[in-house]
Amino acid sequence: MSKTYQAIVIGAGPAGSSAALTMARAGLDVALVERGSFPGEKNMFGGVLHRLPALEKVFPDFWERAPLERHIIKKGVTFMTGDSSFNTTIEAGNFDKPPYNGYTIFRPRFDSWLAEEAVAAGAKLITRATVDEVLRKDGRVTGVSILGRSGQLNAPVVVAADGVLSFTAQKAGLRRPSFDPAQMAVGVKALIDMPREMIDERFGLVRDQGFANEFVGCTEGVRGGGFLYTNYDSLSVGLVFHLASLRTSGKTPYDLLNAFMEQPQMAKMVNGGRLQEYSAHLIPEGGYDMIPELVGDGIIVAGDAAAFCNATGLNLEGINLASQSGVIAGEAVVAAHRDKDFSKNGLSVYKKLLEESYVIKDLKLYRKAPHMLHNNRIYQEYPELMCSFMENIYKIEGAPKENITKLFLKSAKEKVGLGNLLADGFSAWRSL
Ligand SMILES: Cc1cc2nc3c(=O)[nH]c(=O)nc-3n(C[C@H](O)[C@H](O)[C@H](O)COP(=O)(O)OP(=O)(O)OC[C@H]3O[C@@H](n4cnc5c(N)ncnc54)[C@H](O)[C@@H]3O)c2cc1C
Repeated sequence: MSKTYQAIVIGAGPAGSSAALTMARAGLDVALVERGSFPGEKNMFGGVLHRLPALEKVFPDFWERAPLERHIIKKGVTFMTGDSSFNTTIEAGNFDKPPYNGYTIFRPRFDSWLAEEAVAAGAKLITRATVDEVLRKDGRVTGVSILGRSGQLNAPVVVAADGVLSFTAQKAGLRRPSFDPAQMAVGVKALIDMPREMIDERFGLVRDQGFANEFVGCTEGVRGGGFLYTNYDSLSVGLVFHLASLRTSGKTPYDLLNAFMEQPQMAKMVNGGRLQEYSAHLIPEGGYDMIPELVGDGIIVAGDAAAFCNATGLNLEGINLASQSGVIAGEAVVAAHRDKDFSKNGLSVYKKLLEESYVIKDLKLYRKAPHMLHNNRIYQEYPELMCSFMENIYKIEGAPKENITKLFLKSAKEKVGLGNLLADGFSAWRSL
């Protein structure tokens, strides 16, 4: 059976549900098509949800209603070298006051809730429906077919929000048919149950406060890093690897994750917890240079499908960019209906609005960061440098002391080399 809508959104992740919600609120008849048996079933992330300015506008009581875990007040980075580690942590008073800077969330709960909000606004959610083909007439997209189902869904415009691999954008000719492993990362995560009081005590938290920590030097030389985030009564612990580096290492993500959790510093943090589940997902980490064609005749690409993920090495932002681009895609579709123009030209207001938003501005600002993060020294030699430098500062041997600059240069020379230090410092300065 065929059905016609005013718009079809593929994928009920943060990008798709934000787009569907925006369109439904504006009165459009929109179908939100999701392959999972419920939105979020197939989705995982680290992770921290950051502010969502566009969605907050469509949905002013968003933060009161969304299913959130802890708000992040402490952010840290740990440099590790097997049996030594050096931490830096910021605990910001401002992060403990609303509007909070970020929350831990669970994707199955969050994604389901956001999709339900789109449904409450009038969108039609179709689950267990994997979009198979993008239908076209005279070169323009006119709808989609669903795997294993007869008939089709028709609409003058389709929003491809089907995530990092976006077969839809590929089939519509907006993305290359294969992806470049140098622009992709894979994340693996262990969810560890732990009593709430134990988390509070171990990480120095009270009320609903949360902690987010990144780790460098914990990936056995594979380019990547680790994370630990506190939920109410569980920890999300994981690793993210550059796909190309992981492939050449011959190591498996789960072996590396288990080794990470057994490192002395990590073992203390997860001790007393109970492993609940493992999960894994790809991340588009190529930044601005990975962005595909964003619009075609009758189609718009949003979220991870458009590579809107900002991985700077300091933070990983994806959901906020996905949601922001979803809202803007929704607004562009509403404008296209008003103007009755679904051509590439008519839909290009999407690109214009994106360029004015922080999505494209931030990706442009950090355009060089993905390249900088391909430097292998970041993942082994620099953590060793930080740990040995700090160890030398605090070592008291009853012998005359050396000044701090000398101590630093000594560690730098031994671990990285002074020429590399200068070159890497310049590259980091240009990238960040
Ligand atoms: C390990 C890891 C850690 C991360 N940490 C963070 C973090 O801390 N903060 C942050 O902001 N971001 C983080 N991210 C990134 C973030 O998860 C993504 O950027 C975000 O989920 C993108 O949202 P999206 O809606 O574009 O895509 P997705 O969330 O991938 O949603 C796509 C949806 O489309 C559906 N779908 C796919 N194909 C089809 C099809 N053919 N037919 C129908 N439905 C389909 C999927 O089932 C899914 O529901 C992390 C990612 C990973 C993997």
